[in-house]
Amino acid sequence: MKHVLLKSAGDVSVEETTPPALNQGDILVEMKACGLCGTDLEKLHGRYVASQPVLGHEASGVVADMGDGVEGFNVGDRVFPHHHVPCYKCHFCRNGSETMCPHYRASNLDPGGFSEYFRVPAWNVKGGGVLKLPSNLSFEEASLIEPAACCMRSINRCDVSEDETVLVVGAGPIGVTHVQLLSLRGPKILVSDINSTRLQFAERSGASAVYDATKIDVPSKVREETGGIGADLVIVASGNAKAMIQALNSVRKGGKICLFGVPAKGTRLDYDFSDIFNSEVSIITSNAATEVETKATLKLMEEHRLDLLFLITHRFRLDEFEKAVETAKQGNCGKIVITP
Ligand SMILES: [Zn+2]
Ligand SMILES: [Zn+2]
Repeated sequence: MKHVLLKSAGDVSVEETTPPALNQGDILVEMKACGLCGTDLEKLHGRYVASQPVLGHEASGVVADMGDGVEGFNVGDRVFPHHHVPCYKCHFCRNGSETMCPHYRASNLDPGGFSEYFRVPAWNVKGGGVLKLPSNLSFEEASLIEPAACCMRSINRCDVSEDETVLVVGAGPIGVTHVQLLSLRGPKILVSDINSTRLQFAERSGASAVYDATKIDVPSKVREETGGIGADLVIVASGNAKAMIQALNSVRKGGKICLFGVPAKGTRLDYDFSDIFNSEVSIITSNAATEVETKATLKLMEEHRLDLLFLITHRFRLDEFEKAVETAKQGNCGKIVITP
């Protein structure tokens, strides 16, 4: 089978290998679609904070084989397998930090989602990480479950209410997914980006105003829009330090900033820290998702309350992986999906 192999930072190639052997309780999935995530690109370039990078975690496919003792699944089932599953028992899990659970990152898709076949470890299967797909959900749409679930967790952590104004900094697929999920809760949504094509996606998804940050001073525009107050919540859907500064300058006194985009390792902020205290600004981060969110996301997709398929602008086959990475680097694209 073909799979994408990351040998060292920046050195990636499509290689032939044998499908992984199954242990008790494992499932083998034939990949049908796998989204290319910003974190995959970070891992490719050796800038990601996680050790032992595995590429491809936004995958969907069909159960091709099962180890002994798997219950509740059959060969041929269409599935979304979550790459990380917490224990739901430890101190972290019991106190709302499930994605910080020591078990959470201990198992992963093997050898990763960018592979014709991959093994889902028994831990993930037993922990409820494998969701069966309803017949009206395509594999491509199912590949969007993981990133959308991460956005849902971020919004849940920020406690958004209807009479608030939320600024989303960054209108890439992650920013736009936040916009759609936020619009289900009713706040006023403002979006900024430096790319006008991306801003059109945000507008289509329910943003009440979009700002091209190359032409507009976003913090003053946000104040204008909120009677001089500033945004109640700013979601930073970009790992860029400038986006974080824009958030700090746009949030209201006592407001919240959610850091969602992954900053490159070593990112430093040039910002007067005393302002954060004086303005009582809360900085919340949100990292990954659990089955609470993957299941809720799947339900929203099934009910057509979340419509993200239009975010997919490029499709590449596994052996065109390098081309996909090149396209992502150029930046003028929405979501990129890899198919076998
Ligand atoms: Zn991702
Ligand atoms: Zn745990």
